[in-house]
Amino acid sequence: MENELHEECGVFGVFNVEDAANITYYGLHTLQHRGQEGCGIVAADGNNFSNHKGEGLVTEIFNEKNLVSLPGRCAIGHVRYSTSGGGGIKNVQPFVFRHHTGTFALAHNGNLVNSRELSKYLEDRGSLFQSTSDSEILAHLIKKEKDEDARLYNIISALNMIEGAFAFLILTANRLYVARDKYGLRPVSIGKLNGGFVVSSETSALDTVGATFVCDVNPGEIITLSNAGITSTDYSKFKHNYLCAMEYIYFSRPDSDLEGCNVHAFRKESGKLLFEESPADADIVIGVPDSSLSAAIGYAEASGYPYELGLVKNKYIGRTFIQPSQTMREKGVRMKLSAVRSIVNGKRVVLIDDSLVRGTTSKRIVSLLKEAGARQVHVRIASPPITNPCFYGVDTSTYDELMSAHKNVEQVCELIDADSLAFLSQKALFRAGNRTELCLACFNGKYPTALYHSLTEANKDGKF
Ligand code: SF4
Repeated sequence: MENELHEECGVFGVFNVEDAANITYYGLHTLQHRGQEGCGIVAADGNNFSNHKGEGLVTEIFNEKNLVSLPGRCAIGHVRYSTSGGGGIKNVQPFVFRHHTGTFALAHNGNLVNSRELSKYLEDRGSLFQSTSDSEILAHLIKKEKDEDARLYNIISALNMIEGAFAFLILTANRLYVARDKYGLRPVSIGKLNGGFVVSSETSALDTVGATFVCDVNPGEIITLSNAGITSTDYSKFKHNYLCAMEYIYFSRPDSDLEGCNVHAFRKESGKLLFEESPADADIVIGVPDSSLSAAIGYAEASGYPYELGLVKNKYIGRTFIQPSQTMREKGVRMKLSAVRSIVNGKRVVLIDDSLVRGTTSKRIVSLLKEAGARQVHVRIASPPITNPCFYGVDTSTYDELMSAHKNVEQVCELIDADSLAFLSQKALFRAGNRTELCLACFNGKYPTALYHSLTEANKDGKF
């Protein structure tokens, strides 16, 4: 599945390591797939905070010159894809908040489901917001109580007022706090580096900077990193492990481990289970690059059919690439994916895709393969049909745009012109990750958190 699902963000932090901003740059670069619209770094050198951010890719926004202007042994960084709150530089994180009790910076990944209610509550009490980001809400909640000596308790009290999916990084002059939502929806991990600490949305970025994995932050936990080391506090007694299934299926890099399970291994196992549940008579197995390749390898291994490279992706299409017009497309100009004619010509192909959202991409790929001579195309999706929107920071579209929300499998198969179509079961996702809990709300409508009226109404109107 390509360009139909978007994660909201990725966060990375460094505590007490030389060149913290540089390390954060490399960490954010590894997390770039989680958000390409904007990025930023805030560094702290004792009491001085400096920051740089902009709209664009990490390599477009940062260079040696501006990284030098971010001195200090502590830093937090953020890559953003905007969903709720919209785009624009004012919403690019991290945010710096100056207050007489001390400056602090904030970055987060995820989405609060009660942000409208909280901003109204805060505005009624005199708060003025500069952005529409959930981070600003948390900052105002932290500062609502003017208790200078109990910052951790202020943060805990603020965390207990917010509801939704989040991994928050809060950097002060001498501490880095890392908090994860009590449902465990968004991942965040801690590593060790040169006597200090590194924090990341995904473990692959810990590996990139040479850090050693220490632990995942648990649901409902706040980790404090300070010169005294690492301490853990539970801010909530309610705890679940409803990690977003899409992290395994699509978002995270295959070299990341999520709660002890490698993402590539999960996807490969899901492909194996997909064959067990929905075998197809075929000659070859191919996957949609890049996120479906691991599942395709699993399906091929289980079926005994050869795994082939039937589709090639052009990796160099950036944000500013001029997309082919309708006329150019009619002339056969296709930039993102190409079918390998010599591989698929005359073959019965099993096409593995990780998910199906609006169905337009699947239809395009099936037609690409048939034009390249594929005799049959049997589509197998390594996740269940998406029937509900996500309110936790993933842009899965509104009800109206989700093909499986309104059509059954046979109807979808016909619409995408496939010879057959099957989806992986929800049960198989638990088996693939050897887990008992996962968020599957976009597949079954069972949202782990409370949902607020304003949120669901906004989705119906296509505003969310
Ligand atoms: S609803 Fe779907 S995309 Fe959203 S957090 Fe749950 S599993 Fe992930």
